[in-house]
Amino acid sequence: MAFEGLADRLQGTMKKITGKGKVSEQDVKEMTREVRLALLEADVNFKVVKDLIKRIKERATGQEVMESLTPGQQVIKVVKEELTELMGGEQSKIAVADRSPTVIMMVGLQGAGKTTTTGKLANHLRKNHNRSPLLVACDIYRPAAIKQLETLGTQLDMPVFSKGTEANPVDIASEAIEQAKAEHNDYVIIDTAGRLHVDTDLMDELEQIKSTVKPDEIFLVVDAMTGQDAVNVAESFNEQLDISGVVLTKLDGDTRGGAALSIKAVTDKPIKFAGMGEKLDELEAFHPERMASRILG
Ligand code: GDP
Repeated sequence: MAFEGLADRLQGTMKKITGKGKVSEQDVKEMTREVRLALLEADVNFKVVKDLIKRIKERATGQEVMESLTPGQQVIKVVKEELTELMGGEQSKIAVADRSPTVIMMVGLQGAGKTTTTGKLANHLRKNHNRSPLLVACDIYRPAAIKQLETLGTQLDMPVFSKGTEANPVDIASEAIEQAKAEHNDYVIIDTAGRLHVDTDLMDELEQIKSTVKPDEIFLVVDAMTGQDAVNVAESFNEQLDISGVVLTKLDGDTRGGAALSIKAVTDKPIKFAGMGEKLDELEAFHPERMASRILG
């Protein structure tokens, strides 16, 4: 599981302070120093850590905490609130278009888990929101990707719109939306092409699809295992496409979790879902507060 190392360290730090009937400035100083090191060790972005520690320090030495009857617990509450805020505060919801279908565009680098997440999201929408999605294969450069989406469609018993590798992705996406209207699919989830690195051709193509289909959501799929790279990728895609949210995949692995804790702060876009395994039901809505509780124990 992600965050294990971070959770161990932070829980150790919090234990030292929890029962304290009086919290001195020195206690806060030591606590924030340990929190800072634990976060850096977990690969959280340096600047993000710096800002967070500053806020925790200010609040933990403030009157509210110092004059409380249980200052140790108040300090922990502050750390938890700040971690929650860092990961996005409130849990964010998935868009619903005024007029059906709601269009979701999935973007991301190759191997991030885009196609798998397209299937998982469709499954989630049907299971939890009673929706009937249409999946769209716009990765025309990799026949295997089209095949993979078709296989997911068969597993899920859901329609997949594809026109092979010859058609233009912009046309595929627009035709898919017409079909969804005709067939009463209320969500259209477009699986776009990925590359190994961010490149201008890819971004141009994604921008064209975006300006043609005007998606209600653009979800960037990023691999949590790639650490700081995931944060850089998120920054680039967000600059180019103004994404609406992030899906962090592979949080079931032993990633240090820093990406999850930095992406919201760096892009100001919420993490909407977390991929917790390869199976189609292993997608969870991302709850910042629950995640902070999991980390702090
Ligand atoms: P794409 O190139 O971005 O479309 O990536 P794929 O959907 O083909 O996924 C790449 C690999 O990552 C596949 O082997 C997936 O099974 C795996 N994968 C995707 N999401 C997760 C996840 O949340 N956890 C784990 N453990 N593996 C995942």
